[in-house]
Amino acid sequence: MRRLNILTAAVCVVILSSCAVNNELSGSERTVYAMDTVMTLKAFGGDDEVGAALDEAEKEIKYLDNILRRENPDSDIYKINRTGSAEVSEDTFKLIKTALDICESTDGAFDISTAPVSDLWGFYTKNFYVPSDIEIAEALSGVGYENIYADENRIYAGGVQLDLGGMAKGYLSEKIMEIFKNNDVRSGIVSLGGNVHTLGTKPDGGKWRIAVQDPDSDEYIGEISVNDKAVITSGGYMRFFEQDGIVYHHIIDPKTGYPAKSGIKSVSIVSDSGTLADGLSTALFVMGLDKSEEYWRTHSGFDAVFMTDDDNIYITEGIEDCFESRYDYTVIRR
Ligand code: ADP
Ligand code: MG
Repeated sequence: MRRLNILTAAVCVVILSSCAVNNELSGSERTVYAMDTVMTLKAFGGDDEVGAALDEAEKEIKYLDNILRRENPDSDIYKINRTGSAEVSEDTFKLIKTALDICESTDGAFDISTAPVSDLWGFYTKNFYVPSDIEIAEALSGVGYENIYADENRIYAGGVQLDLGGMAKGYLSEKIMEIFKNNDVRSGIVSLGGNVHTLGTKPDGGKWRIAVQDPDSDEYIGEISVNDKAVITSGGYMRFFEQDGIVYHHIIDPKTGYPAKSGIKSVSIVSDSGTLADGLSTALFVMGLDKSEEYWRTHSGFDAVFMTDDDNIYITEGIEDCFESRYDYTVIRR
């Protein structure tokens, strides 16, 4: 069980305005609604640079939302799903290529073709429904990332339906960091529906402190202090419905067709790459603690914080020095 430790410092990311700001740098914040969520961008620097960076970032958000949105008839994903193959933009191609690598390396725990199953449960339309085993088996027969093939700038779906919902926001946050840098913004933070990505240090030179939410309350289970990193969380508590006292959430185990039941309540990934962090947060949630530990030991480029169903907290050793919690936790070592 989770045990209380000594209470430590307060959390900064959710209370961005309380972060100390160096007098020489002014900050500006922008809120955009896209990809079905609220996105908050904050950049610090000269007024012109910050203004230009936020304008360009907002354009990029709208652009990616447009080309990746499944129901938008002009989107790359719509075209692939509708016709079975399509020539796509550089961004879509890159994102799908990276997604396929994660599908493969996680042995299909992450699968960008789970759409028929998510749709059956009503997570797409929000007309929630608990399907029968036969219906699930039928939907699962249309799932399998192995069928998807990327060549030149074309994507071949091989008879499956693509959904990049498990990774799009991570790719987007990574692009926003590039846009900030290209506009000479050296300090910034974005939260895309809770997916956080930081650039440089805070304006006062300190690290950004990112809260890890308690899946069961509005409190936090800990905080991670980072620079230039994405901190991306997946949890069953984020989107779900309840029927006859049972909670059904939006992260599907592609092997069973049911909402993943792996013993994890939430997993946060810390990585230089937003794309990797987003893909892995979903994948490790499906895989559960033991498989995730094994995956972490055999793959580089990320660290993780897990909270299990029995309320224990685990972190991987790469973030040992930058994780603080008022609860006891276990460090997973290589
Ligand atoms: P969120 O999008 O809520 O931040 P995630 O990054 O964990 O959360 O992505 C969940 C979304 O990914 C789902 O809403 C669905 O679109 C898609 N998805 C669900 N299960 C899987 C899976 N096993 N592999 C890949 N994508 C998935
Ligand atoms: Mg994800």
